[in-house]
Amino acid sequence: MTTINDVLSIGHLIGRTMTDVSTYDEVRDPGRLTDVVARVAVGTAVDVNRAVESAHQAYRSWKDVAPAERARLLLEAADVLAGCAEDLAPLLVREHGGVLWEAQTDFALGTGVLQHTASLTEEFFTPVQFDDEQSFISVERVPRGVVGAVVPWNMPVVLTMMKLAPALATGNTLVLKPSPFAPAALTVALQRMAQKLPDGVINVVHGNADVGQALTSHPLVRKVGFTGGTATARQVMASAAGTIKNLTLELGGNDPAIVLDDVDIDAALERMLKGVFTRSGQICFAVKRIYVPRSLYDTFADALCDRVGQYAVGHGLDESASFGPLNNKAQYDSVTALIEGTKNSSAKVVQLGSKLESAGDGYYVLPHVVRDVEHVAPISSCEQFGPVVPLIAYDDEEKVVEWANDSEYGLGSSVWTTDTERGLAMARRIEAGSTFINTHAFESLDLRMPFGGVKQSGIGREFGEAGMREYVEEHSIRLLK
Ligand code: NAD
Repeated sequence: MTTINDVLSIGHLIGRTMTDVSTYDEVRDPGRLTDVVARVAVGTAVDVNRAVESAHQAYRSWKDVAPAERARLLLEAADVLAGCAEDLAPLLVREHGGVLWEAQTDFALGTGVLQHTASLTEEFFTPVQFDDEQSFISVERVPRGVVGAVVPWNMPVVLTMMKLAPALATGNTLVLKPSPFAPAALTVALQRMAQKLPDGVINVVHGNADVGQALTSHPLVRKVGFTGGTATARQVMASAAGTIKNLTLELGGNDPAIVLDDVDIDAALERMLKGVFTRSGQICFAVKRIYVPRSLYDTFADALCDRVGQYAVGHGLDESASFGPLNNKAQYDSVTALIEGTKNSSAKVVQLGSKLESAGDGYYVLPHVVRDVEHVAPISSCEQFGPVVPLIAYDDEEKVVEWANDSEYGLGSSVWTTDTERGLAMARRIEAGSTFINTHAFESLDLRMPFGGVKQSGIGREFGEAGMREYVEEHSIRLLK
């Protein structure tokens, strides 16, 4: 068990062992900048090589472990992860800035992904076979080899499990590079999980962009699973191009929420607000622009502002906090610059809510609603990744579909209506990996639904069978009779 005041030293995880290193960076609490939460190893390409060699060695035997046995071991690892929430969720709060329920949700969702993937594993490997007069054909799924995974800081546990679970279930081994902004709770959890698995199946190497680049270009890495920003993904694709690696990319979003004119405003806001400001808006598939029929615009905007006005921002361990600080200085600077820039436009920027005493010298930003926004304004066309949401009025449904799709992104989206058929018809016209009807928050996710983006929101899908397919090759075998 770790206790709340421990300053952990987080080394690389090579096999089951956390290694000591010579260089560490401090990880500070974004909600209390004087607090050092952990020290994290600063890796190099040499560390990446050791981790990849460890994974490569483990791959030789892990690929031949029967799928049912791999599933059993994953379920044991899932139990370990579930047990980690008690002592590690508070640590996660102190490094990534979210409130406690958000950190607990990260562990719970991660555990669910492991369990769901394990439940599909045996059947996933049933070969597709044809036996006729001419031939016997068997199409078999085989693992790819060493997987290099890179994750961001906002939901580090579940985003890691979305790669680890399908990779390991299908017989690959893993080298993970966490974000330097939330490395500690995740690495301790992985070290505990690794004790349930053969040595070298899970490895972790810490560091910055150079370490990510060394991992995503390493010749022994056959597959890259990346979650992060779209700009970083371009660099990852370039790194992976040298050895033609397979990629799954989960990237940024600018999710539209389309309110239809038959909406029940109170019921819609009750659900919509479970997502808009969660993690201070730092969720890839959070609502990032709301389109409202002009006839309902003022009523909707007033009702939204009334509710958001009740939010209190504070430290993540303060039980009264609705949400916590932004995660890091670059994030804080970009969100505050965006808000200040919008104040110089024709839009009306409304700052709401209050700061609790626990909000000290961290990266706190109060919730903002931006009214009377043009569809083309920067505040509605970018991924804000902060507690600020623009409201855009529309006059007809053709226009709102055009606007919703007028984005380089296509991750999530939602339609809000009391008419199911209308909602389904509108959903089918949206260019996105997921379209939710009357929901747009963590509770919208279902592991039976593949998760991912279109356009520059990503390549490939995670969750369930679709996610597992990303980690295997099809091996076609034919006997000519
Ligand atoms: P980021 O792109 O800055 O960093 C992500 C990870 O990539 C970090 O571990 C970072 O150290 C690493 N990295 C940086 N440069 C690299 C390089 N050249 N090669 C390899 N790795 C490199 O993203 P962030 O600021 O940590 O996270 C926020 C972004 O992540 C947002 O755009 C958000 O939308 C996105 N995100 C997407 C999803 C999704 O599922 N689609 C989920 C969560 C976050």
